[in-house]
Amino acid sequence: MVLAQLGGSISRAIQQMSNATIIDEKVLNECLNEITRALLQADVQFKLVREMQTNIKKIVNLDDLAAGHNKRRIIQQAIFNELCKILDPGKPSFTPKKGKPSVIMFVGLQGSGKTTTCTKYAYYHQKKGWKPALVCADTFRAGAFDQLKQNATKAKIPFYGSYTESDPVRIAVEGVETFKKENCDLIIVDTSGRHKQEAALFEEMRQVSEATNPDLVIFVMDSSIGQAAFDQAQAFKQSVSVGAVIVTKMDGHAKGGGALSAVAATKSPVIFIGTGEHMDEFEVFDVKPFVSRLLGMGDWSGFMDKIHEVVPMDQQPELLQKLSEGNFTLRIMYEQFQNILKMGPIGQVFSMLPGFSSELMPKGREKESQAKIKRYMTMMDSMTNEVLCS
Ligand code: GDP
Repeated sequence: MVLAQLGGSISRAIQQMSNATIIDEKVLNECLNEITRALLQADVQFKLVREMQTNIKKIVNLDDLAAGHNKRRIIQQAIFNELCKILDPGKPSFTPKKGKPSVIMFVGLQGSGKTTTCTKYAYYHQKKGWKPALVCADTFRAGAFDQLKQNATKAKIPFYGSYTESDPVRIAVEGVETFKKENCDLIIVDTSGRHKQEAALFEEMRQVSEATNPDLVIFVMDSSIGQAAFDQAQAFKQSVSVGAVIVTKMDGHAKGGGALSAVAATKSPVIFIGTGEHMDEFEVFDVKPFVSRLLGMGDWSGFMDKIHEVVPMDQQPELLQKLSEGNFTLRIMYEQFQNILKMGPIGQVFSMLPGFSSELMPKGREKESQAKIKRYMTMMDSMTNEVLCS
């Protein structure tokens, strides 16, 4: 899971507070200071972190809480709400509808992960029943068309581009028309990226946008820029009507928290995050489940989503029925371990389960994690059916 370090530090701070016999002003302050330190390390703006600390202290008035109150829960809830506030732009994004053609245009600086993200976005929707197609209108970077073609072929997604045509507007228009005729309902246009925000890039973006009239413009940004994301997102928003943002490389950068909060401050909804180079290292970004996972509180809706992807169709109704009844037995966990081992990044799935820290499954150590799952399964093999089903 992304931001494993930040999540680990915050949940450890809350855990330490919970371990204290009495939660008084000193214990609360220590916990908040730890969280502050972790957020600043993730490059979240100082002003936001300060505000968060003040708000939590205002909400959690230890003197007013009667002895019967569960202080730990109240504090944890206050931290949860404040983190959500920092990350919530308060604005939903356009969502494409199946069966109705939508044109989605991708913009961003070169190297931000734009081309990779176009394919991830197409692949994600293809798995959910859309009929996506990719158009390469990046005529600036040599090799851009080959890269898109290669990715598209791997994911079995139709694509359009040209080695000889140098006018990106023409390619974009032809590509969109072609795929509309083929009844594709998600036509994704990849545009040129440049090294920095320069007039020529913005002008080209404007022209492609005018000619294709996209339903949504997605701005792709690299998370390593941290707080600087604010200026970059603003600059793109001013040139073309950016409707959503995808933040990439959340797997490798400690500054991801800063990038996410800075984008939220521009009132642009982040819709997905990139968590690796592979096609399926791509996650829906939803503020509440994201914060919930960050605090080790799980993400049931994300978990359900994954179940739909990996559990055979005929077994789904029974499993969902049991889960909706709160019936999460060791037997179910065992069966899900079997399913999880069949699929890609297991860390993603694990962080969705309450109580499982993302640090349990650090990236790059998936083999080790898989071995750990197999060990858990061997331990479960020695349990009686009664224990597994209780
Ligand atoms: P573009 O110039 O913006 O189109 O960028 P590319 O799609 O070519 O990506 C640049 C590099 O970033 C490539 O090596 C990608 O594999 C890599 N990349 C893209 N997204 C991610 C991500 O979420 N995580 C990681 N670790 N690498 C990524």
